[in-house]
Amino acid sequence: MSGNHMDQLPSRPHGHAVPRFAGISTFARLPHTQSLDGVDAAIFGVPFDGGTSFRPGARFGPQGIRQGSRLLRSYNYALDVEPFEELSVIDYGDLAVVPSDIADTYSMVEDQAAVFFDNGVFPVAMGGDHSITLPLLRACARKHGPVSLVQVDSHPDTWDKLFGKEYGHATVFKRAIEEGLIDPHTSFQVGLRSSLPYRDDFERTRGYGITIVTVEDLFRRGIPDVARQVLKGIGPKVYFTFDIDFIDPAYAPGTGTPEVGGPTSRQALDLLRELKALPLVGFDLVEVSPPYDSSEITAMLAANAIFEALSMVAWRRLQQPEQKLVEYPAKRRAGGSGG
Ligand code: MN
Ligand code: MN
Repeated sequence: MSGNHMDQLPSRPHGHAVPRFAGISTFARLPHTQSLDGVDAAIFGVPFDGGTSFRPGARFGPQGIRQGSRLLRSYNYALDVEPFEELSVIDYGDLAVVPSDIADTYSMVEDQAAVFFDNGVFPVAMGGDHSITLPLLRACARKHGPVSLVQVDSHPDTWDKLFGKEYGHATVFKRAIEEGLIDPHTSFQVGLRSSLPYRDDFERTRGYGITIVTVEDLFRRGIPDVARQVLKGIGPKVYFTFDIDFIDPAYAPGTGTPEVGGPTSRQALDLLRELKALPLVGFDLVEVSPPYDSSEITAMLAANAIFEALSMVAWRRLQQPEQKLVEYPAKRRAGGSGG
């Protein structure tokens, strides 16, 4: 590392040297910078909830998740990886949005997110409601073309319109299919379970080519079996979108559109770990609404799910060091692992 200007990046402090409750909140106490030099993965917020249809508050998601991430340590024993050591990871801060204008927000978020894809930096977005995934997929498609979508959610988000409008958190994947951002025939939605306003919501979505695994299917078949089906059915590049309402509201109360009868946080971690071999090109975690949270339950779960996603990227790189995940340059380190 000597002679590399990345040596100048502040290190992630060790929790035995600086208390985890001290200092300014960044994700997992990672260094905050907007320089992408030598960076493998950037965590950033998209604090927009103008696409929400029920409870608001996801605009506060990024700061809530940062606060809930303070206890994250460095080693993921389940995957035997240290994601902050294997990858140089930063907290980029939040993207610019216009709270009152979804169209302006979309174009701004797309352009800002394109910088990550253009520089070979793995993007990890913290929402925001689920509407923010559309501009992220647009930026992704500019670099990668149509990708496979793996979505964990209690809703399909494939309505044509919401209140007569094209854009919102419940129409995002209808638009993504129409715009050719995702390949529905290699895409999966796991955990669906909400009551539906239209009897054909699931069948219509399946008609687009997406494979739906309802929460009943997930538990009848078991998490490993569903994970095998996903790993077998996806294409060479996967964008993973994690709607926190995939989890049961007993474990994730702080969200905009909660649906009972979902997986526990334990089961969600199991599913992510079973999916560790996914060839990820991007990841987002959306719909955390801190005003509805209790004791940071939801924020801490979201932080841990992001830690698992980074661990998946690090795990895959360790398995296949010759295979560049996102056109990575040679292994770089910045920020330091800390503890
Ligand atoms: Mn959703
Ligand atoms: Mn949802």
